[in-house]
Amino acid sequence: MTITMDPGAAALLEALHRAGHKAYLVGGCVRDSLAGRIPHDWDICTSALPRQVLDLFGEKQCIPTGLQHGTVTVKHQGGLYEVTTFRVEGGYSDGRHPDHVDFVADVREDLARRDFTINAMAYNREEGLIDPFGGREDLLVRHRVRAVGDPVRRFEEDGLRILRLCRFGAKEELELDPATARAAMAECRRLACVSAERIWQELYKLLAAPHPARWMLPEIVGQILPWLDCAGQPARYEASLRVVDALQPDPLTRLAALLAPAGPEAAGQALARLKCSGAQTKEVKTLVQESGLAHDVASPRRAVRHLLARLEPDTIRRLLALRQAQTGQAGFAAMTRALDVLLAEKACCRVSQLAVNGRDLMDLGVLPGPAVGKLLAAALDQVLNENIPNERAALLGWLKENKTI
Ligand code: ATP
Ligand code: MG
Repeated sequence: MTITMDPGAAALLEALHRAGHKAYLVGGCVRDSLAGRIPHDWDICTSALPRQVLDLFGEKQCIPTGLQHGTVTVKHQGGLYEVTTFRVEGGYSDGRHPDHVDFVADVREDLARRDFTINAMAYNREEGLIDPFGGREDLLVRHRVRAVGDPVRRFEEDGLRILRLCRFGAKEELELDPATARAAMAECRRLACVSAERIWQELYKLLAAPHPARWMLPEIVGQILPWLDCAGQPARYEASLRVVDALQPDPLTRLAALLAPAGPEAAGQALARLKCSGAQTKEVKTLVQESGLAHDVASPRRAVRHLLARLEPDTIRRLLALRQAQTGQAGFAAMTRALDVLLAEKACCRVSQLAVNGRDLMDLGVLPGPAVGKLLAAALDQVLNENIPNERAALLGWLKENKTI
């Protein structure tokens, strides 16, 4: 078994080997390579201590990402590689952080602290695949996500692994090993101890999986999003999962699909609890607030023009996808096509895009003040409704006749 390595990662492994250290590719890049996908990053684990890694590659080439945990990011040939010293973690009194980490000499000890067998494999050219827990068979033959060691203990150590179980199941489209899944459900309260940032990061990746619904177990999702009332309103939750699966894998639209039935207020609380960024919060809140949008079969173009007057194009695209998935109405697909046409035309949808401005109105004798804004808004409405084109002469003609409204 050989893995085609990224040249930068291969060069770093070779440099570590030449300096007398053990070094392997580890985790996601080994898993993705075995599954026939191209890894998005290449993590390396090594017997070299962080200090030795810094000395070998030069401090200028290194970012001390998490020195106390043994991680140094090395810059090489334009790429960034995380190089982490073999380590074991001791004591998890708070259920989220190890009390201390110890550096060790054997890669197998390092693999044993990892969460799932599919993530607990290492590889280098000389030794081939190091797979002490049967990760390859789980990934390629048995198609399952299984904890390394005793699942209850592993979830007690770090509650985030409960959500990671769903994430890797959904991402890799693997079954959940029954004993691991039972332990995750039994221990799901442990998620309450995990920081919001870590939860949102995993939930985001879960929602980016192709069709995650099957892995979004209500016991687990209910822990992190109690506003969904998964247990109390199972039919409502099931319906929103169908919407999630019908949508493209866009995490924000899918989060809005989950939160929409709970309403804007609950959505606001959930987004605050997850500590989503300001931009993410604004986007999801808007989608939830607008999720009553009707499809306008008579004139999708005009309806979308009015949306463009107050929402960003990306938000509208998401909103139309959400409404289409929620309702199955083809009218929303027609609106999406109208959106593409309007954007290509650079159609005027805002006062600032009108072919006339406040000065033109004053030239027509309108007194400065609120009347100017009102008239421009009225002119824009005419353009949005496509009664008049966004052309100077046409607009001036209309304004002359209507300047007293
Ligand atoms: P992705 O491609 O989604 O980044 P990944 O496998 O690289 O997948 P990460 O979350 O980046 O996943 O973690 C890197 C590796 O670190 C994992 O493969 C796993 O071996 C280990 N790991 C990460 N988080 C945990 C955790 N909470 N408990 C145990 N091991 C973990
Ligand atoms: Mg990763």
